[in-house]
Amino acid sequence: MEGEFASPNHEPRPPGVVVDTVVLHATVLDTVDEVCEHFRKSDPGVSAHYTIDRDGTVYQHVDETEKAFHAGVSEMPDGRTVVNDFAIGIELVNLNDGFDPYPESQIVALRSLLADIRSRHPIKHVVSHAEIARPRGRKTDPLGLDTSLF
Ligand SMILES: [Zn+2]
Repeated sequence: MEGEFASPNHEPRPPGVVVDTVVLHATVLDTVDEVCEHFRKSDPGVSAHYTIDRDGTVYQHVDETEKAFHAGVSEMPDGRTVVNDFAIGIELVNLNDGFDPYPESQIVALRSLLADIRSRHPIKHVVSHAEIARPRGRKTDPLGLDTSLF
């Protein structure tokens, strides 16, 4: 995809892969502008499919058909690794300090986006980055958000 929010950091998913997982993140960065700038850099070359701002605005960086680079070294509870292959990554603008709240507008937008994604893919798992990052403890995001609610 193109446009001011697009990230060049993506590649094709493996052939035949079924997207069945959503990984939730917190940006640590404080603004969508900073996130977009970060996602445009080739080093470290990271990205996510979506970022949701505090006011509920949703920004798309990578097409869902493509693999974005958000989970890093990772493992699902069912043992599957390279989670980015079969996942959609959603970033929530949040400092991830355990104090910065996730406003209701942001959570409403997340629920709506998840409903959209579920209409396109047989999503079976909504997990936090912290749950799947390896080695365990490498990531804590999205700190303070109970992903079992989604
Ligand atoms: Zn993350």
